[in-house]
Amino acid sequence: MKIIMLGAPGAGKGTQAKQIAAKYEIPHISTGDIFRANIKNGTELGKKAKTYMDQGALVPDELTCDLVMDRIQQEDCKNGFVLDGFPRTIPQAEALDAALTKIGQTMDYAIDVDVPDENIVNRMGGRRACLNCGATYHVVFNPTKVEGKCDACGSDTVLRDDDKPETVQKRLSVYHDQTQPLIDYYQKQGILKSVDGTQPMDQVFDAIVAILGA
Ligand code: ADP
Ligand code: AMP
Repeated sequence: MKIIMLGAPGAGKGTQAKQIAAKYEIPHISTGDIFRANIKNGTELGKKAKTYMDQGALVPDELTCDLVMDRIQQEDCKNGFVLDGFPRTIPQAEALDAALTKIGQTMDYAIDVDVPDENIVNRMGGRRACLNCGATYHVVFNPTKVEGKCDACGSDTVLRDDDKPETVQKRLSVYHDQTQPLIDYYQKQGILKSVDGTQPMDQVFDAIVAILGA
């Protein structure tokens, strides 16, 4: 099963993608996590990506596409994968389609987690991320057991630099300009499914399972 998670930053793509990956036993591929891991490890890619991420801008397609194409051709992706945060532009979607066409495959589902902008600002202000293992929490909707410490690995949880209010507004406008057109793109391909992302997390997941099958 090959799935794309669509939706605004903070809509809950990562939250749902992790559960989908666990249930259907497919890898969760988050470009944001890959970039953050590169930043943490001080790689050249990380240094380049950080300048864009800190401004709430998109990392250029030429730095993003190849790394996803390499990742989806790895052995653990042979039964499918869930893409979270990719594609974010029409050229990225076209690059993905072209890479899959070459190996005689197509995407199965593009799931749009639909959340209005006014909810997004609260979501992102309350999001706390573990930069060690990538787990995500929310101070109100999904708090850690011990304040400020990741449940999974015990490391500190932090407010991401790009979740600060001034950057959130910029990311939302980038989303509307560059990523939202993908909804139409996948609608035309006949693989778009939409879920109401304002529901509690477990209900959003139930709606997704109803689409994908138990
Ligand atoms: P995305 O991957 O789309 O950027 P996340 O999955 O990181 O979004 O979710 C953004 C924030 O909102 C996180 O703090 C997460 O815990 C919280 N969140 C996710 N889904 C819901 C939901 N259905 N209701 C309330 N909060 C949610
Ligand atoms: P995310 O973790 O998905 O919220 O992504 C955090 C940031 O990483 C984004 O605001 C972008 O700067 C960058 N990023 C992640 N995925 C992509 C992508 N597919 N294309 C371009 N930039 C991306």
